[in-house]
Amino acid sequence: MPPGEFDIIRRYFSRRQAHSSGVVEGIGDDAAILHPEPGYDLLAAADVLNAGIHFPASTPPHAIGYKALAVNLSDLAAMGAEPLWFTITLSLPESNEAWLSEFSRGLFAIADRFRISLVGGDTVKGPLSIGIHVLGRVPEGMALRRDGALAGDRIYVSGNLGDAALALTRGAGDNPGARYLRNKLDYPEPRVALGEKLRGVASSCIDISDGLAADLGHILEASGKGAIISAALLPLSDCYRTEVTDDLYRLALVGGDDYELCFTVPGAMHYRLEDIADELDCEVTCIGEINDAGKLEISDTDNANAILNARGFNHFN
Ligand code: ADP
Ligand code: MG
Repeated sequence: MPPGEFDIIRRYFSRRQAHSSGVVEGIGDDAAILHPEPGYDLLAAADVLNAGIHFPASTPPHAIGYKALAVNLSDLAAMGAEPLWFTITLSLPESNEAWLSEFSRGLFAIADRFRISLVGGDTVKGPLSIGIHVLGRVPEGMALRRDGALAGDRIYVSGNLGDAALALTRGAGDNPGARYLRNKLDYPEPRVALGEKLRGVASSCIDISDGLAADLGHILEASGKGAIISAALLPLSDCYRTEVTDDLYRLALVGGDDYELCFTVPGAMHYRLEDIADELDCEVTCIGEINDAGKLEISDTDNANAILNARGFNHFN
């Protein structure tokens, strides 16, 4: 007989060890009891992944578990927050032990790496959907926000852009290039350590979930600024450069799912970035500058306007 709701929770989601302190009562009662330390602001974020919309139905359950938490950790990273606790709302079409086992393995692989504790959730029958709420903390008043960019600040991005979106346009090929791209789509790396180091250094920050143009656009809108970025400076992987033969910059500008950070840094802080990147072994690339023009302009590509008019991925379009 397949396991029922309580067996599922006990077998696959209840674990004794808590990574972060402050868990007075975790899974088991009607609500978790959490005890934040004084001197910190608490940050909350949530993201839902629905099968067929946010991930292809063919995605392996291990990757679904990993990614459901990774995209939430990415939101904490964008705020400069240290991950603490999370809850999960699982809607499952059936009680399938092989699926649950792989899913929870992927989920806890990343939870352990980022030392975040599962403290509760809900388990129901329905179409496959995974909702996660994360809680994190920053020293009081130190959260990175979208609205602090000033004219003259340099614009940086972490890692490479466009690989995840490129993976979606490729089939399930079994060659090194296809595997690399698939991995970037299924196992994004939340830039939590980078976010934490950027506290007091970056003037604004966002994670790139809907594409650089759309997400940098959010910084510009919140800050009431414009920007010029150079397409030629966008960090593209070797694989991306090999695979994309025309319209080289389009996916890097408007493709989603990269979960890299885009942030702005005032002149006095530029010198800090090299050290931070070295220390973390995470590449950061300057791609442009904030200005007072009130719009995003892209140099070094003939069809910037066509690319920008197509915009990032919008869920209701
Ligand atoms: P209630 O009926 O009060 O909603 P549940 O029976 O749904 O309680 O859940 C019992 C306990 O198990 C609660 O502490 C809840 O947070 C936790 N829980 C439920 N589903 C999960 C899950 N998938 N992972 C972790 N904890 C869960
Ligand atoms: Mg419940």
